[in-house]
Amino acid sequence: MLTQNLGYPRIGSHRELKKICENYWAGKTGYKNVLQVGRNIRHENWKLQKEAGIDMIPSNDFSFYDQVLDHSLAFGAIPKRYNEVILRQGNAELDLYFAMARGYQKDGLDIVAMEMTKWFDTNYHYIVPEFYKDQPFKLFSTKIIDEFYEAKQLGIITKPVLIGPVSYLLLGKEKEAGFEKIDLIKNLLPVYLDILSRLDALDVEYVQFDEPFLALDLTEKEQKAYEYAYKEIRKAFPRIKLVLATYFEGLGHNLNLASSLPVHVLHVDLVRAEDQLTAVLAKINDKTILSLGLVDGRNIWKNDFEKSIETINQAVEKLGQERVWIAPSCSLIHVPVDLDNETDEKNLTAEVKQWLAYAKQKIAEVVSLKKLITNESPASTLQKLEDNKKAISNRKTSKLIHNPEVKARIANLKSEDANRQSSFSSRKIKQQALNLPKYATTTIGSFPQTTEVRSWRAKFKNGTFTEDEYNTLIADETAKAVKWQEEIDLDVLVHGEFERNDMVEYFGEQLDGFAFSKNGWVQSYGSRCVKPPIIFGDVSRPKPMTVKWTSYAQSLTSKYMKGMLTGPVTILQWSFVRNDQPRSETCTQIALAIRDEVCDLESAGIKIIQIDEPAIREGLPLRKANWQSYLDWAVKAFRISASGVKDETQIHTHMCYSEFNDIIQHIADMDADVITIETSRSQMELLDAFADFKYPNEIGPGVYDIHSPRVPKREEMIYLLKKAKAVIPSEQLWVNPDCGLKTRGWDETKKALIEMVEAAKEMRKTE
Ligand code: GLN
Ligand code: ZN
Repeated sequence: MLTQNLGYPRIGSHRELKKICENYWAGKTGYKNVLQVGRNIRHENWKLQKEAGIDMIPSNDFSFYDQVLDHSLAFGAIPKRYNEVILRQGNAELDLYFAMARGYQKDGLDIVAMEMTKWFDTNYHYIVPEFYKDQPFKLFSTKIIDEFYEAKQLGIITKPVLIGPVSYLLLGKEKEAGFEKIDLIKNLLPVYLDILSRLDALDVEYVQFDEPFLALDLTEKEQKAYEYAYKEIRKAFPRIKLVLATYFEGLGHNLNLASSLPVHVLHVDLVRAEDQLTAVLAKINDKTILSLGLVDGRNIWKNDFEKSIETINQAVEKLGQERVWIAPSCSLIHVPVDLDNETDEKNLTAEVKQWLAYAKQKIAEVVSLKKLITNESPASTLQKLEDNKKAISNRKTSKLIHNPEVKARIANLKSEDANRQSSFSSRKIKQQALNLPKYATTTIGSFPQTTEVRSWRAKFKNGTFTEDEYNTLIADETAKAVKWQEEIDLDVLVHGEFERNDMVEYFGEQLDGFAFSKNGWVQSYGSRCVKPPIIFGDVSRPKPMTVKWTSYAQSLTSKYMKGMLTGPVTILQWSFVRNDQPRSETCTQIALAIRDEVCDLESAGIKIIQIDEPAIREGLPLRKANWQSYLDWAVKAFRISASGVKDETQIHTHMCYSEFNDIIQHIADMDADVITIETSRSQMELLDAFADFKYPNEIGPGVYDIHSPRVPKREEMIYLLKKAKAVIPSEQLWVNPDCGLKTRGWDETKKALIEMVEAAKEMRKTE
C-alpha cells in the first residue's frame, strides 16, 4: 500500500509567491528573484511531503500563475498575438507567460490577456487555452521535465503531474469556426509523447494524468478520444506507470470507459462521490491499482479516521493491500497551506481549530491512514487514532455547533415562508407608490474602496484608530457619496459599502456559526488569494448587521436609499461549509438570518432592498442530472430571505456575468421585483434569454463595463438601452452599471455615472 499526493499548494506558507510576482510586475524586483522564490517553494513542498512520509510526491504542481497556462506554454499553444512579445523580449519565457496571463501594455504594444474562467465548480480560475483550426502543438516550455530533474537532483523521485490530453483540450475554447477542439487530439498527442520520452530518459517511474472530465458527462467522440489517447501512450511507453486521476464527481456512466483505459493506477474521489466505491470495485481491472481519494481536498475539516479505515478495508478486502493507495480526494491547492500558522485564538478558538486540517495536516492524515492499515509504528499511530476520534466526537456534540433554536425554526418553516404575500403583478401596482420614473437609475452597491478607505480599516483593526474615529471617517465618506449621488440626480441611491471589506466576510463576521482564519489563504487566480470564512455551526443573527449604516445614509436624503445585502447562496458558495449536514440545510439557516435583516431594514423605513446572488450559477453541480435539486433549494433559500416583507417593499437582486439561458426559469422563480445583471460586454445579447422567456419582473441590464477604467460615452449607453428596449418593454427596464464600483477610482466613476444618468433621461424623452 502506497500513499500519494495529487498536488500541493504553491502560494507558499506566507503567500511568498504573490508577493514576489506582484513586485516583479511592478518593476520592483528582477526575474531571478522570482525564479528563486519559485524554487524555494518547490523545495520546501517536496521536503515537507517527503518528511511526512508520502510515497508519491507530485512535481509540476507548482505554477507561477496557473497550471493550465503552464500546459499551453509547454505545448506551444501560444496565440499569435504574443509573437511580438517573444521577438522583443528575446524569448524570455517568464515574460511571455505573464503576458499571456495578464495582457501586455509596454513599448507601444497593447496585447489583451487570454480569457480566464472557473476551474470546474471551484473558486480557482484558470487561463483558457485558445485553439485554432489546424492548431499546431510543439514542445515549447520544458517546465515539466525541468522540475522532475530538479527534484531528482535533491534526491526525490517525483511523479510529474500533467493535465491529461483529453481534459486539456476540453478546457480550451475554439477561437474560429470549422472544427471541434476534441478533433485536435491527433495533433496534440505527439507533444505528450515527446514529454514522456524526455521523462523516460530521466528514468521517471510514475506520471500522473489528471482527467477530471472523466467525472463529467461525455459525448461519444470524447469517449473515443480517451480510448485513442491512452492506447497510444501505453503503446509508446509500456514501462511508464500512468496514474489516471479523476475528481470532483463520481465516474458514473464513464466507469466502464475509465476502468478500460490501460493505466497502472486509477484515482477516484470518495469525498464528493463516496458511494461510487462499490461500483468501482466491481468494475476495476484485475491489475489496476485503486487510489482512494479519502482526505477532502476541497474543504478544511479533519478526516474521520474510523470512517476512512472502514472504506479502506472494504477496498483491501477486494484488492489486497498492494493494489490500494491512499490519497487526498483532489489536489490540495483548494485548501489553505498550514494550520500551524493559525496562532491567534481570537480568530480561531482552540475548540474550532481542533476540527480542522489544512494541506500540511492533510498530508499527515494520508500517511496516518496508511500506517493504521499496515500496522507500522503502532504506538504513535494508535495515539493519532485516539486523538482523531476525540476531535471528531467533540465536533459532533459541541455546543458551539448546535443551536436548538435554529433547528426548531427550520423544522417549523412553512411553504408560505418562501412566498411574497402577492404575485409580482399585484406587487408592481403597489410599488407604483415609489413613484420611480421609467428607466430608473441606480448602482449595484459599492463605490470606490480607495487605498485611503482600506487604510482606515487596517488602522482600526491594528488599534491605531478607535472605533469612534473609524466610524466618523466612514460616515463622512458615506455622506459625501450620498450627496454626490443626489447632485447627479440618480433615482435610487446606495450608501457605498465603505464599511465592508468583502461582501461575504462582512456578514460572516456578524453571524454566529462562522469563524475566520488569519492565514487560511487559497489561490483564486494568479497572485490573487482569498480567505473564505469557515461555517462551522448553526447560523444565526445575534443582532442587525446593516441597519445602522443604511438608516444613517437614508437620513441624509429624501431619495430612496437601497439596503444592500449578500444572499444566502452566495454566502454559502464563497465559504468553507460544514460537512456534517447537507449544504441545503446550512443555506436555509443563512436565508433565515438574511430574512430577519431584510425585515429589520423594512421596519427602519427602507423601501428598496437588494439581496445580491452573484454566485447562484457557479453553485450548479457538475452533472446536469443534479441541477434540479440544487436549483430547488437554492431558489427557495433566496425566496425565504426575500419574502418576509410587505408587497410595497421592493426587493432587488444582482447577478454578475453568466449564461442565463439554461436557468432562466429558476431566475424567474426567485421572483425578485428587480434583477440587475451584467450585460454590457455581450452587447445586451444576454438579455435575449430574458426576452425569449418573456421574463415578467423588472430588469436592469448593465449599460457599461465596470472592469475597466474607461469612461463610456453617453451614445454607447443609449445605443445599448435602445437594444434592450427592442426586446424588453420599457416599463420593465432599469439603468445601472454592470456591477459594483469598488475596484474603480472616483474620477472615472463620477464621469461614467453622470453620462449614465443623462442617457436614461434621453431615453425617457423617446417614450
Ligand atoms: N453589492 C455588491 C457590490 O456592489 C455586489 C458585488 C457583486 O455582485 N459581485 O460590490
Ligand atoms: Zn456583480
